[in-house]
Amino acid sequence: MSRIRIAAEEAFAPPELLDRYRQLLEAATGLDPGFVSLWGHYAGKSSQATQLVARIQDLGDGRLRDMDDSGIAKQILSLSAPGVQIFDAATATGIAASCNDQLAEAIRRHPDRFAGLAAIAPQDPATAAKELERGVGRLGLKGAIINSHTSGEYLDDRKFWDIFEAANALGVPIYLHPTTPPPAMIAPFAESGLAGAIYGFAVETGLHMLRLITSGVFDRFPRLRMVAGHLGEALPYWMFRVDFMHRAMVASGRHPRVGRLERKPSDYLRENFYVTTSGMAWQPVILFAQSVLGADHVLYAQDYPYQYVPEEVKVTDNLPISDSDKHKLYQENAEKLFGL
Ligand code: MN
Repeated sequence: MSRIRIAAEEAFAPPELLDRYRQLLEAATGLDPGFVSLWGHYAGKSSQATQLVARIQDLGDGRLRDMDDSGIAKQILSLSAPGVQIFDAATATGIAASCNDQLAEAIRRHPDRFAGLAAIAPQDPATAAKELERGVGRLGLKGAIINSHTSGEYLDDRKFWDIFEAANALGVPIYLHPTTPPPAMIAPFAESGLAGAIYGFAVETGLHMLRLITSGVFDRFPRLRMVAGHLGEALPYWMFRVDFMHRAMVASGRHPRVGRLERKPSDYLRENFYVTTSGMAWQPVILFAQSVLGADHVLYAQDYPYQYVPEEVKVTDNLPISDSDKHKLYQENAEKLFGL
């Protein structure tokens, strides 16, 4: 069976956004400590930082060369964490639109190599919903990227539900990408150096996913599809215990926000979420995710340029699974989910 490899969680950040990040870091007052831990070191002069910053801005030949070198036919591009979610609402909305225009232009130049997700500013949910409509309807983007919490606020808050309404109406998925934990959560992560992709990302984003599930978002929006990276931010591993404890908590009425749902928490994880292999080039966990979520809900991703390790593709190439499941992982699931 001939197949191509589509990578579904691949980051870009135009110079305009990186300049804004630099300005924020230079001003250095009242900054979100998560943002500083995430971007502070990329402002430095190490060769690693220089290379990352060069790669993440490139939507042309350099990126295409790296894709060729690692056997990636197509990248689904999204604005790097924390995207526009650290700015005030008006600034964020303007930068999101500009980034989406630049992304759409890159896709027009290389339609067979790139597809993309729209950046939106949850700080202003109604305008974010409009930008998602513009991104999909006018720019041909395939969904939205949200880099987890926005100033410590989570999407289970009803004020954000305009965004879910829009995604539902357009029939496009929302990719819930990690960011560093918010100020109320970050201290023990930051002091130990574990706030970022090494662990803090997964804890914070797994919490966000579980909040969406237990608050009943998917009872209200049963057709809503969301995507999580890093094989589901550890939640697939927790499904049995979450179901058990959720049942017990509902029965005892011990917390007002843990109430009855139409289905088990794990059902929403299986049906409303899709996961990608970004950053998790490890056969045992990929097989585990496929076994508990189903081969139709696990997609390949590389996490370029943060985890650009061309040899890693051998791990997925060599998975002991059927050709048809490999085709789903690399190509078919992405084509269906994002309507490529
Ligand atoms: Mn990523």
